[in-house]
Amino acid sequence: MTATLDWYGCATYRLTIGDVVVFLDAYVDRVPGAAGPNPPVKADDIDRADWIVVGHSHFDHLWGAERIAARTGATIIGSHETVRVMEAAGVPLAQLMPVAGGERIELADGLFVSVYPSLHSCVWSHQGMHPVDEVCLGDLFVTHQERQDRMGDLFSYIATLGEDTRNHLRASAQGPRGDGHTLVFLFDTPEGSLLYQDTSGHWSGIVADLRPDVAIIAAAGRGNVDGEPIQGSLAQFVARQAALLKPARVILSHHDNWLPGFSIATDVEPIRTELARWLPRAELAEPGYLDGFEVFAGLRRG
Ligand SMILES: [Zn+2]
Repeated sequence: MTATLDWYGCATYRLTIGDVVVFLDAYVDRVPGAAGPNPPVKADDIDRADWIVVGHSHFDHLWGAERIAARTGATIIGSHETVRVMEAAGVPLAQLMPVAGGERIELADGLFVSVYPSLHSCVWSHQGMHPVDEVCLGDLFVTHQERQDRMGDLFSYIATLGEDTRNHLRASAQGPRGDGHTLVFLFDTPEGSLLYQDTSGHWSGIVADLRPDVAIIAAAGRGNVDGEPIQGSLAQFVARQAALLKPARVILSHHDNWLPGFSIATDVEPIRTELARWLPRAELAEPGYLDGFEVFAGLRRG
């Protein structure tokens, strides 16, 4: 039974294990000019899925799940907010499985996913994305209210990015309240275990106890460590999280130029350099778009 990953861009992957298809996030449609598979793929083109796990309720993760679920009959696993938004978008309750962290779900015979609470990147702390090796300091102990104000400024800024972006934001607006609670997923397969994260934040006490063979770690924005912005670079966030998880292989998510004007195409080299410092035995793999990357092939474990 081979496990393969197909990257759809942003943080969305398709995980295929034997004949079971699991979408990791569901954001498939892109604003014109964004990076992604070429030719572009639409959520309406997806005709096979058994499960969709969603890390949080922002449009660049959740939008599309309602159409994939409608076409394929897949069940969506996500936060209670994700489930509320999907129900409002017309997904039958029988295809919605709300979770909060602490659940172990049987996806198929011998295939399980465990859910853990996580944290969103400190998106309130910046307007554009900083280079991955830029050390960012400060912004500590900012109150929730102040963060909300800064998020408002950020959305105002994104709305100035042009007509295509405005249309995209209008089309993808499903009305989530904030990020709706952030989750990470640990897949337990006959081939090995795989962690999936879709935004650069974590509770260090939680990830320190997880031991995936392969970890998909989000690389976008200012990392969030236990509720505060990392005092360091994004590359350091990724490498430090890898050092807690100790996977044999690291794969990135959310690192392409998915929303030009806000996102940037992440330079992977500084991440490779930091990873070599923090977890020298780990390999950094770089699957391309839709290339059927074999998740556990050739792993040096233990
Ligand atoms: Zn988000």
